[in-house]
Amino acid sequence: MTYTPMIQQYLAIKSQYKDAFLFFRLGDFYEMFFEDAIKASQELEITLTSRDGGGEERVPMCGVPYHSAAMYIERLIEKGYKVAICEQVEDPKTAKGVVRREVVQLITPGTVMEGKQLEEKANNYLTSLTSFEDGTYGLAYTDLTTGESRITLLHSFEDVFNEIYSIGTKEIVVATTSKEQCQSLQERYALTVSCEDETMIPPSCESVVSHLKQEKLLVTFGRLLNYLVKTQKRNLTHLQPVELYEVNSHMKIDMYSKRNLELTETMRTKGKAGSLFWLLDETMTAMGGRLLKQWIDRPLLDREKIEQRLHFVEQFLIHYFERQELREYLRSVYDLERLAGRVAFGNVNARDLVQLKKSLKQVPFISSLLMQIHDKHIQSFAQQLDACEELVQLLEEAIEENPPLSVKEGGIIKDGYNETLDRFRDASRNGKTWIAQLEAKERELTGIKSLKIGYNRVFGYYIEVTKANLHLLPEGRYERKQTLANAERFVTKELKEKEALILEAEEKSIELEYELFVSIREQVKQYIARLQKLAKNMSQLDVLQCFATVSEKYNYCKPQFSHDRRLVVRQGRHPVVEKVLGSNIYVPNDCYMDAEREMLLITGPNMSGKSTYMRQIALTAIMAQIGCFVPAEEAILPIFDQVFTRIGAADDLVAGQSTFMVEMLEARHAIVHATQNSLILFDEIGRGTSTYDGMALAQAMIEYIHDRIGAKTLFSTHYHELTALEQRLPRLKNVHVSAVEENGKVIFLHKIKEGPADKSYGIHVAHLAKLPLDLIQRAEQILFEFESNSTPIIKDKKEKFEQLSMFEERHDKVRSDISKKEKEVIKRIQALDLLDMTPLEAMNKLYDIQKLLK
Ligand code: ADP
Repeated sequence: MTYTPMIQQYLAIKSQYKDAFLFFRLGDFYEMFFEDAIKASQELEITLTSRDGGGEERVPMCGVPYHSAAMYIERLIEKGYKVAICEQVEDPKTAKGVVRREVVQLITPGTVMEGKQLEEKANNYLTSLTSFEDGTYGLAYTDLTTGESRITLLHSFEDVFNEIYSIGTKEIVVATTSKEQCQSLQERYALTVSCEDETMIPPSCESVVSHLKQEKLLVTFGRLLNYLVKTQKRNLTHLQPVELYEVNSHMKIDMYSKRNLELTETMRTKGKAGSLFWLLDETMTAMGGRLLKQWIDRPLLDREKIEQRLHFVEQFLIHYFERQELREYLRSVYDLERLAGRVAFGNVNARDLVQLKKSLKQVPFISSLLMQIHDKHIQSFAQQLDACEELVQLLEEAIEENPPLSVKEGGIIKDGYNETLDRFRDASRNGKTWIAQLEAKERELTGIKSLKIGYNRVFGYYIEVTKANLHLLPEGRYERKQTLANAERFVTKELKEKEALILEAEEKSIELEYELFVSIREQVKQYIARLQKLAKNMSQLDVLQCFATVSEKYNYCKPQFSHDRRLVVRQGRHPVVEKVLGSNIYVPNDCYMDAEREMLLITGPNMSGKSTYMRQIALTAIMAQIGCFVPAEEAILPIFDQVFTRIGAADDLVAGQSTFMVEMLEARHAIVHATQNSLILFDEIGRGTSTYDGMALAQAMIEYIHDRIGAKTLFSTHYHELTALEQRLPRLKNVHVSAVEENGKVIFLHKIKEGPADKSYGIHVAHLAKLPLDLIQRAEQILFEFESNSTPIIKDKKEKFEQLSMFEERHDKVRSDISKKEKEVIKRIQALDLLDMTPLEAMNKLYDIQKLLK
């Protein structure tokens, strides 16, 4: 038995889209068959049915209505799947045999153009990766919604990992042969991995890469472009020339540190709230929000560029009223970047165009507002803003102010824009006036006041007379058409003629409106590049005003940059903790570091604020290098090339690594890559292993960084023994977070002071945590015994347990884990009466004892 022709067609198409759900258009539904149907019915919780497909067994089938398909597609994409949309590409009425069908678009997680999945203030990137034989990697990414692309060459897989984390991509395109290599990336970031082997630049996309010379870059970007062309199957005119970048041209913050410092998401919830991005985001536009995120991800190294941004921020800070006005104008600026993308894709509606016009109309206001600020940089920026006047004029003349959502039902084009359209409209309007007049005339002639002329889709125009009034109607005046419960409906020849005219005019005008709309949309396409440039300028303006707004709101100061790697922060704060706690509760702290103070060893009780202090220094440096003011009264900072952190217990359970392993990996990362110009934050290194082990590692790391790297380092530790290092290491200084004890309770002052802490307040913290009182008292007793017996430091958890139980049997001085032989030796030594022995006798005894042990 063979399958029916339609199922055969399905199978043929499906064989080309094995890794996607094939949405196969059948009338008003998209149907799925076989495996796809089974899987989709589970994923989408829709009913699985079956259909006779000509084979021996019925074919599993499930489907979703065409009009609500978007929702289902979105759900599948969110889960990381791809969906191939297969449409009927010929009219079923004229088709011979099975209707021809083709896949018109392959929607994938990295190429969605609309829907919930697209966050307003986040880019959605599709990434391509190519690994070369010399161990280098080409990495490129594109946001299809905005047309922005970037490309770089990387020298290690570790860099690939870091970049992919930064980019936050959902899908990565690789050569078939590299698929396996990407398994680790896939597991780590839950990416969709797609394959594309063609790397020749498609002719239609040459302008995007015309400035790239290196073969490796072309291959990498070629892969990405081919994938886009094959999946989208349409015009990609909005792709902007790809920007070549080097990871070293920005402050490098590796994946661990970005996470630890909670730059764009918090560690616990992975959400924006509580992150630096959340704190800083006072942008007024979606484009501004996206740019802010990009800036946070890539702080600058170039002093001049940083100063430029700071200059704008300062000006906006001074010019309060202008800034408020600017914010109001920006509020009405639509997402021009994504709009340009949708124009290229051909899926904008008239409402989008009205929004576009409204946005563009803000531009002259913004320009003249900026011109009022007497600053040459701001003024020259203002002059660059392109208001696209001709486009505004076109949209103003053509598009209605409140058009409907649908572009095919008329009501879009303004009167006066097109003569033919006006004529159709006149015809229909005149017809309608004629009908209104007819109604009045007939009422008068018949004397029936309630006579009315109505319209419905089935019967067209009719004259309606209620049953009660029928006797007033002269026989044969109208032609009876329809009888209702309490009325009769009639028509006349004249009325039908007018109706035909009106309907024809309306139909034609709707058709013409659509044609006109499409042609306007085409004209808008000519402006894509200009709109993109304007979008870029607007988003910069938005982020800069946002920095000024934040800086004013929280009282930040303009940072200065030192030439001698000196770091001076007076009254610094952790911006997010300060916001959460309130500035009246937060205790500001100073930090001073220079050539004699390269490393600060921070001791102090748990929960006293050590890691908050360290983070605040890192965040201050990052904020300064993105061009924002910083949370301090004064800040003089070096320009850091990289920031490394090892903070808190970021168990990487997803990657299946133990806490200690992660700790060591993060530490290694810093130690291998840091330079003299880097900032290292190490919080409680060595905690994850036994005491001696941990302390030894911590000390070795401090020495290594001190002697060989010379990076500015903040090192917090609970190993008080390490504070002695200050005497040996000239560039290391002890500082501590102070706490006072009052009535047996610890009060944290959160104040950083010179010198080592004198005490670890662990038990007090346990007290604060309200552990049972008996347990606290017992701990105090044990501590007391430890200190008075100066027992060696506990080695690890297992031994700690043994030692605790040992207290009970301490008197007999026999450890439970020593062997019988050892016990015997101890017994013999104890039994010796040394005062009664000659040296030779003692030697002989010692010889015996040693033999026993051998
Ligand atoms: P540690 O690293 O010493 O264990 P943390 O830095 O985690 O301590 O701080 C513990 C808590 O103390 C923070 O969650 C915060 O609420 C509070 N804290 C820290 N620093 C300050 C400060 N400077 N002012 C006010 N509260 C602070």
